[in-house]
Amino acid sequence: MIISKILSKWSLDPYYQSSSVLDSILLAYRQFFSLDNECIIKHANCRICCPKRLNKNQSSDYIIKISAEASDWSRTIYQLAHEISHVVMECYPDRESLKWISECLCEAASFYTLDKLSKMWQKEPHNLPCAISLEEYLENKINKIEKVPLLADFYSKNAQWLADDPYADEGTERPRNDVFALSFYDIIQQNTLGWTAITHMSDEQLPDNANTVDYLNHWEKKCIKTSEKEFVLTLKKSLGL
Ligand SMILES: [Zn+2]
Repeated sequence: MIISKILSKWSLDPYYQSSSVLDSILLAYRQFFSLDNECIIKHANCRICCPKRLNKNQSSDYIIKISAEASDWSRTIYQLAHEISHVVMECYPDRESLKWISECLCEAASFYTLDKLSKMWQKEPHNLPCAISLEEYLENKINKIEKVPLLADFYSKNAQWLADDPYADEGTERPRNDVFALSFYDIIQQNTLGWTAITHMSDEQLPDNANTVDYLNHWEKKCIKTSEKEFVLTLKKSLGL
């Protein structure tokens, strides 16, 4: 097992040969999040984050499975950033009808991380080809996303589908969720400090009959910093709620 230099509690499947990709992501995430837990990252034919909270017999706090090929750094970063964001938010909210919010935020985190690492590597001449490749991958991904005039309208048209099917898996691409992710990516960029709001996404003590607005209000109340509360309020407003 190759151990991460940044966080010894985090390890990447030997399939990926080098832990430098993981270390770069962890470096970016540790500017905002503590990441004290233990995590094993494995190559699999699926992409998922399994927390011990929901899998009592699991040896690590988290097991992340990603399907990206070892040589495809852009895709590895894209998938890892999504799943590491699930670790940060402890995979909340638990109820199925609200999970789309965390799914879209994790997608947004992937866009943010690709951009961040691309900018970071642009400053290092030996990493310049990787930086350009990451930039192109992100640009290509964003170009494919349907541009909607008003996210709030898109949300109201798709609210039921989001609640019924939070993942909207179509192969490995997630076009519907990416429409929201693009807008949430903008919110992260505008209020990076408030992004830590995702550590307060638990839906514990939320009444059984709570809807999306109730959940967003509940989440905002759990936030500690003003910037975190603003993050949630901006997200709520973007949905027209
Ligand atoms: Zn996810």
